Amino acid sequence: MNLNLFGHAGQWLMVDCGVTFQEPLNTQNPTLFDVVSADPKFIVEHKEHLAGIVITHAHEDHLGAIPYLWQRFQAPIYTTAFTAEVLRRKLQQFNLLDQVPIIEVNTGDTQNIGVFSVQWLATTHSIPEPHGLVIRTPAGAIFHTADWKIDANPVLGKKFQSRPFERMAEQGISAMVCDSTNALKPGYSTSEAAVYPELKKLISETRNRVVVSCFSSNIARLITLGRIAKETGRYFSPIGRSLQNMVSIARTTGYWPADIPVADQRHLGYLPAEEVLAVATGSQGEPRAALRRLANDGFRDLQLEKGDRVIFSSMIIPGNEDAIAALVRALKARGFNVIQAHETARPIHASGHPCQEELKLLYDWVQPKIAIPTHGEPEHLDFHQKLASERGIEFSFSGRNGDLYVIAPEPRLQKNVVKTGRIPLQFSAN
Ligand SMILES: [Zn+2]
Ligand SMILES: [Zn+2]
Repeated sequence: MNLNLFGHAGQWLMVDCGVTFQEPLNTQNPTLFDVVSADPKFIVEHKEHLAGIVITHAHEDHLGAIPYLWQRFQAPIYTTAFTAEVLRRKLQQFNLLDQVPIIEVNTGDTQNIGVFSVQWLATTHSIPEPHGLVIRTPAGAIFHTADWKIDANPVLGKKFQSRPFERMAEQGISAMVCDSTNALKPGYSTSEAAVYPELKKLISETRNRVVVSCFSSNIARLITLGRIAKETGRYFSPIGRSLQNMVSIARTTGYWPADIPVADQRHLGYLPAEEVLAVATGSQGEPRAALRRLANDGFRDLQLEKGDRVIFSSMIIPGNEDAIAALVRALKARGFNVIQAHETARPIHASGHPCQEELKLLYDWVQPKIAIPTHGEPEHLDFHQKLASERGIEFSFSGRNGDLYVIAPEPRLQKNVVKTGRIPLQFSAN
């Protein structure tokens, strides 16, 4: 549930405004989930000084709180076309579409937002149009990486270009605010293109139905699966509203290849088993997602049978272990052949976050004066801080939610400056 604030000369710039899903409130009844965000109290009290909101990419942990919180700050939102389309569809559901000013920018653009000059830089991640931001003020420049990895073949969008980051060292970056999600993992992340051969093997070797579960916003993965379906004589069909919405957004924004057909989920029940390739959400064991309903045989358009294959093209997000284990047990109990990414030797999932060697490369290119690790649990932030310091970065801080980083003139970390906590946005009782 990312929410960052950058301050200069009495003004604030918000970067991202996301949600997370509260762990089950009641383990006896794990279907109770809360959608929560960071407590925005501080900026709500200073909203007249909020110059704008910048959204780096369209993942829920970066934009999901906007429809719930926007009315409390009412500042204009700046983002690129794909993210804007995802946001507009959310705002429509809240009847807010006409009220929220969305300013679309292009990759590479620089936009003046109050006292801040913000430049959008292309990176690679696990969703279309991920961006890092260079935020410049007279006091110094900050590079906010947002979520990123180095992907030489992201399937969708341009491959990772190192030149813009190498150039930063010449310009002088005061602070780099960087993704820590995979800071504990050695080596390099897997390329999105590397999942194609193994998924194709797992799908072509069976004559039964195949259901693949992945995140709905990973359009590159959906394109890979659509291509495999075409090559293996199956009908590619995303099931459930969130996947269908994402495919529709990909079409609207020009990301869906014209040669990859998409079948209506209502036709799935009439097809021979060997012609079905369905894609479903729910890889994290979410109680109301399509995969859970398939496990319970509660899905009208598709009933699975013994021997059908269910592939988790996803990782286990920490905190979801129990919910996923329960889902896998339910699927196996019905005789389905379940394959999870961590059990396969070759990759059927690629993370969108940088591992240690990628972090080292970025520090070597950018050479910021200060390293500010974000996006991770305390152990990720601490390890990332050590890595930055070992890489020769002069100041590196492992802060926590609510801390204030003073970047200029004298770098320091001030603890507990802003009241923190999570606030419930939506209570979804089943
Ligand atoms: Zn994220
Ligand atoms: Zn992300």
